[in-house]
Amino acid sequence: MTANPKATSRFMCDLSGRAAVITGGASGIGRATALLLAESGASVTIGDLRLDPANDAQFAVLGIGQQQCDVRDLGHLRQLIDGAADKAGRLDILVNNAGIVMVGQIDDIKETDWDRCLDTNLKAAFFGVKYAVPHMRRCGGGAIVNTSSNAGILPRAHDPVYSISKLALNGLTRSLGLSLGPDKIRVNAVCPGPVDETHIMDDGLAEHADAHAAAQQVIEASPIARAHGRMISPEEVAQSILYLVSDASLMVTGTMIAIDGGKSLGVPPLV
Ligand code: NAD
Repeated sequence: MTANPKATSRFMCDLSGRAAVITGGASGIGRATALLLAESGASVTIGDLRLDPANDAQFAVLGIGQQQCDVRDLGHLRQLIDGAADKAGRLDILVNNAGIVMVGQIDDIKETDWDRCLDTNLKAAFFGVKYAVPHMRRCGGGAIVNTSSNAGILPRAHDPVYSISKLALNGLTRSLGLSLGPDKIRVNAVCPGPVDETHIMDDGLAEHADAHAAAQQVIEASPIARAHGRMISPEEVAQSILYLVSDASLMVTGTMIAIDGGKSLGVPPLV
């Protein structure tokens, strides 16, 4: 990745010639990011636990590679990253996006629940960076984005383990942003709020007797979402990820961009 101190291009989000790996890229935010990065010129490979054949046609048009991958299996994760880098001859971008929710109070959480959540949301991100770094060093730098959550800024009472995983992911973002700076490798995070058209949101709402009322409640908790009368879209999160992996943010590292309609700012105004 070349630093361009006197960039003349007005469009600094051009990713032509760059190669990217996105975990959890088969649906939701990861899928929207894969499409946007590929449309911006990057050679994109996604890894996901569950590949979706519904993506095949659109991904093929944009040359997006797909690999079945459980990020909790570090051998799988390494294969995904090394394989994509070998195929493209480089690796400039990693989006650690695969994630799961974990709702439950401390009395009910089992060790296996903790491991599943932390291994997916935190450990895989750390080792993803570890495996990506040697490839990025060979490219003269790189950009890593972790998909965190508004729960990583303001923890929530109903999902302490998920909140802990995302708070720690934000810590990882700052710490590795600091330590990888000399390699011109930037590490940033996005912290989405309630995002629709995601399995995470759909599955969560489906657990409520009145899914519509539950969706309304989620929207109400986010001032801007409430003002617009809708949730945040995966594409709106992808736009921030595009900014963070492009030269438009060449001097930005260790930051967390909240795309949550103000949800993590504090207690929302009363209706
Ligand atoms: P999603 O469920 O649609 O997408 C997550 C993807 O990750 C799925 O395709 C899933 O198969 C994949 N995945 C899960 N475990 C995996 C594993 N072990 N290995 C490989 N892939 C795995 O939901 P999404 O909202 O697009 O989730 C993306 C990220 O966004 C997650 O990290 C999530 O925590 C975060 N997030 C989502 C919301 C929201 O409201 N949807 C809000 C804040 C943060």
